[in-house]
Amino acid sequence: MLTPEQNVVRRRRLVKVGQEISRLGFVKGTAGNASVRADDGFLVTPSGMSYADMKPNDIVHLDMEGNIRQGRWLAKSNTKPSSEWHLHQAIFEARPDVNAVLHTHPTFSTTLAVLGKPLPAIHYLIGIVNGCEVPCAPYRTFGTGELSEIVVKTMGDRHACLLDHHGLVAVASDLWDALELTIQIESLAELYWRACAMGEPSIIDDEEMDRVCAKFKAMNYGPQ
Ligand code: 13P
Ligand code: ZN
Repeated sequence: MLTPEQNVVRRRRLVKVGQEISRLGFVKGTAGNASVRADDGFLVTPSGMSYADMKPNDIVHLDMEGNIRQGRWLAKSNTKPSSEWHLHQAIFEARPDVNAVLHTHPTFSTTLAVLGKPLPAIHYLIGIVNGCEVPCAPYRTFGTGELSEIVVKTMGDRHACLLDHHGLVAVASDLWDALELTIQIESLAELYWRACAMGEPSIIDDEEMDRVCAKFKAMNYGPQ
């Protein structure tokens, strides 16, 4: 059971990461959402609220069935949980290694997602997602159980997945690692876009990417 102090620290971190994704331009307006595990459920950002206005009280505590369990916070807030809470819940359920989920719509990653394309290994750093590429999950309506199912299936044991005609989700053992992953993936997506403007970049083969991933793991390198 989280102490009230631990609870408020996690709420503050979620507000802070929301301000960061907004500042970095990874979302426009109120788009995107973030969550961390808490007790038998998770804390998630509210739906449709501006990150500039968001307060720790606005973060919503859900159990794994999606029921609100705000406890003493309930009296202070009447906000609704993110419309993507199914996605966050399904990832926490499927991935015991994941403690934080960050969903954004960054321009270059989302450009690939709009084309329904994965981000391939055009640079060895792709290995930080624990795979040879950032896959792209087929399109499903936002906020649905169908979207969460297809994302969990497509992501497998990787740390990130593009969402066709939508955006990006990054997962990690910690919220700041999920942000770091998002920053790196967006930068690699931009690099890919630039390389494609000048030619056809070659892709690092799977055997070499397996070596890179094994090396990252052995070094404990990058977001875990
Ligand atoms: P929420 O504001 O409900 O979290 O939705 C934003 C979003 O990105 C939906 O995919
Ligand atoms: Zn979204």
